[in-house]
Amino acid sequence: MTTLDDCRALDAQDPLRALRDQFMLPEGVIYLDGNSLGVLPKAAPARIAEVVAKEWGEGLIRSWNTAGWFDLPQRLGDKVARLVGAAPGEVVCTDSTSINLYKVLFSALSQQAGTDRKLVISERSNFPTDLYIAESMCRERGFTLKLIDASELPAVLTDEVAVLMLTHVNYRTGAMHDMKAITAAAHAAGVITVWDLAHSAGAVPVALNESKADYAIGCGYKYLNGGPGAPAFAWIHARHADKFVQPLSGWWGHAAPFEFTPHYRPASGVARYLCGTQPIVALAGLECGLDTVLAAEPHGGMAALRTKSLALTDLFIRLVEERCAGHGLSLVTPRAHAGRGSQVCLSREEGAYAIVQALIARGVIGDYRAGDDQMPDILRFGLTPLYLGFEDVWNSVEHLLQVLESHEWQRPEFNAKNAVT
Ligand SMILES: *Cc1c(COP(=O)(O)O)cnc(C)c1O
Repeated sequence: MTTLDDCRALDAQDPLRALRDQFMLPEGVIYLDGNSLGVLPKAAPARIAEVVAKEWGEGLIRSWNTAGWFDLPQRLGDKVARLVGAAPGEVVCTDSTSINLYKVLFSALSQQAGTDRKLVISERSNFPTDLYIAESMCRERGFTLKLIDASELPAVLTDEVAVLMLTHVNYRTGAMHDMKAITAAAHAAGVITVWDLAHSAGAVPVALNESKADYAIGCGYKYLNGGPGAPAFAWIHARHADKFVQPLSGWWGHAAPFEFTPHYRPASGVARYLCGTQPIVALAGLECGLDTVLAAEPHGGMAALRTKSLALTDLFIRLVEERCAGHGLSLVTPRAHAGRGSQVCLSREEGAYAIVQALIARGVIGDYRAGDDQMPDILRFGLTPLYLGFEDVWNSVEHLLQVLESHEWQRPEFNAKNAVT
């Protein structure tokens, strides 16, 4: 049996332990929801205040040039590139994940226009916004969205398929796809790939160029700690960079926006994915978040974060199985390291929502996701190696055990649903 002392020993040996000092973590909170909203970097409040008071307040319009505002989407994109296996100049930080998905999916479909390929394939269990965006775009553009289970890959990739749109790490189960193998299978079948990295960027090593993926997008406010509603990012492989169509052809994606010419001439490369004037204050917050992840580079970067993340999730699984056996919890997240992101999801026939609420009342913040006809409701625990330790995992499972043993979760106040789960 694993003990609290074992966990403390793991913390004592953890080479990434000091990275936690970069964050403002409230006293008494164990935060297991960095996969939904990352925590506040200590540097962010002062940096955001500086952008507002100095760059906006004093610099005014001059700050577009003097404070580096104009290039911010590209400069931050270069930081994201280091985390996702892309090259400098290949990523921009802009818009939301949903909007970026709209843009890249449109581009990918345009590349297949005029062929007999009329299907867009995605997973039934993909994050709903991805499916909603794809559904309406397919309707508008004469394609059909076909939803599959992961087990049907790669067999469904036929010569009728235009685009394969997948989220690399599943938001609800934590299951991770093999990006390289799936992309290779897609290309062999003439299919273009669109990858959503919302639960991957900053959580697991991603190798976009090595995988030869086509398009990718990702989220700024989850594992990248960019703040609520932080700008997201978009990437495109260099082989498509001068050919793709940007449907939101705003002036910021123009080759020379300040020539104010009446006709659109697209910027080369990923800068084309910019549309309008950028949210500078929000980008400043995102940069603070990105820097917290890049701070791991001297200690081994994403590979080191991944090693710790797997150790944390392994420990969480082991402790739940050793200590909470007989309480009706089942592991949903794949056990195999290669098939798992940085979260652990447990299902339970009854009470998943209320158990999560009872844990939150104790300061252990995870979240709940509704089940469906294939799976009961889910308790979701994101384990962020930047600011979580092994003793935190022990304490989380101890609280979970107490909530279950005492039937605390059955109290009425834990069973009334909030608007945001
Ligand atoms: C979190 C998440 C999003 C969020 O999209 P927003 O536009 O930021 O609301 C999109 N897709 C996936 C797969 C996600 O996990």
